[in-house]
Amino acid sequence: MDPFADTLQRLREAFDSGCTRPAEFRAAQLKGLSRFLQENKQLLQEALAQDLHKATQLDSAFIRKEPFGLVLVIAPWNYPLNLSLEPLVGALAAGNCVVLKPSEISKSTEKVLAEVLPRYLDQSCFAVVLGGPQETGQLLEHKFDYIFFTGSPRVGKIVMAAAAKHLTPVTLELGGKNPCYVDDNCDPQTVANRVAFFRYFNSGQTCVAPDYILCSPEMQARLLPTLQSATTRFYGEDPQSSPDLGHVISEKNFLRLRRLLSCGRVAIGGQSDESDRYIAPTVLVGVQETEPVMREEIFGPILPIMNVRSLDEAIEFIRRREKPLALYAFSNSSQVVKRVLAQTSSGGFCGNDGFMHMTVASLPFGGVGASGMGSYHGKLSFDTFSHPRACLLRRPGLEKVYALRYPPHTPRNLRV
Ligand code: NAD
Repeated sequence: MDPFADTLQRLREAFDSGCTRPAEFRAAQLKGLSRFLQENKQLLQEALAQDLHKATQLDSAFIRKEPFGLVLVIAPWNYPLNLSLEPLVGALAAGNCVVLKPSEISKSTEKVLAEVLPRYLDQSCFAVVLGGPQETGQLLEHKFDYIFFTGSPRVGKIVMAAAAKHLTPVTLELGGKNPCYVDDNCDPQTVANRVAFFRYFNSGQTCVAPDYILCSPEMQARLLPTLQSATTRFYGEDPQSSPDLGHVISEKNFLRLRRLLSCGRVAIGGQSDESDRYIAPTVLVGVQETEPVMREEIFGPILPIMNVRSLDEAIEFIRRREKPLALYAFSNSSQVVKRVLAQTSSGGFCGNDGFMHMTVASLPFGGVGASGMGSYHGKLSFDTFSHPRACLLRRPGLEKVYALRYPPHTPRNLRV
């Protein structure tokens, strides 16, 4: 019999009920802790004396932000320049030496980063290392002082396992499926404009893109014509020739995305052209939760719509899946948006728009659970790549004051 199962289940159920969230509850718990210390001072002092024979006294203290040392930055292909340089800025600003491993898939950017960027930096402190899975695996066998990885959850696990061998701390910026809840109380055209823009941006190859819509069948019927009109306005009658729709990065991803087009029923788009690695901006309806398009991160210009009957059902759907990197909720009612926010968890959240939260430098950017750990952007980038060293400096004098702490801890000694 598992001696911990009941306790853990009890606590998890309590957490899921939301009871720990209100400020009053947290304040009450902290007040309880404070009362515990005050009301049991004597008891605790005796217990500590029996267990450890010591007491502590602090002077003033400060935090010294120090660079970790040698940092490894591993980048993906979808924004190959930004996602290499943004972590690099934080790592260099904090004073680290950096090995940058760009994605081998975005070959042209990889080449520029390897051949040109080092000329602008001190090469005794910075290096670009090239390669795919095999070379990165080899690189990861080495000890780094910090690893910053951006990529898929699958490879994130490989990176974290390799880091664990050296107890190297990691930031994992991963992906997943970002839900987009659309309430019945919405202007469909506004929602369609915003969702289509952020879904099809960079041909859907964005980690924070809305991955699927959750809405009622009635809202779906209102959304479809507006999604069609938004798509046509943005990319014209022939999206394949639009300069504003990116291309799918590789043959492998093209074939994966083309397979996803067979899930549910195509309501908008659905065309593809292998010679151009083109997938039309597409909307799928009638999809099942068990189909690949609802199981894997889409990472392409395909938007499935899943029907739910109520806000509660949408929240329940989101909660029973992995915690996403981003979550979107559209409603004219701020109460509805706030309920989605309060009853779910995700790396980031945006009400009534796409990934605008990511563009605010003062907000942390990162995932939670399966979508990653750690965060960066703005000042946080500096903090991410710094070790907050806890320091205390004491003057050599005043020994009489400090003499109190030395044993023997007899009542007489304590009175001195
Ligand atoms: P990926 O995980 O396949 O590759 C990322 C990096 O890991 C590349 O540099 C690659 O060379 C390396 N790599 C690949 N396989 C490896 C292995 N077996 N061992 C060691 N290293 C390996 O990801 P990708 O296809 O380049 O990018 C797409 C993914 O990245 C999506 O899941 C997307 O959501 C995610 N992403 C996340 C963010 C974010 O900021 N959270 C940003 C962009 C992309």
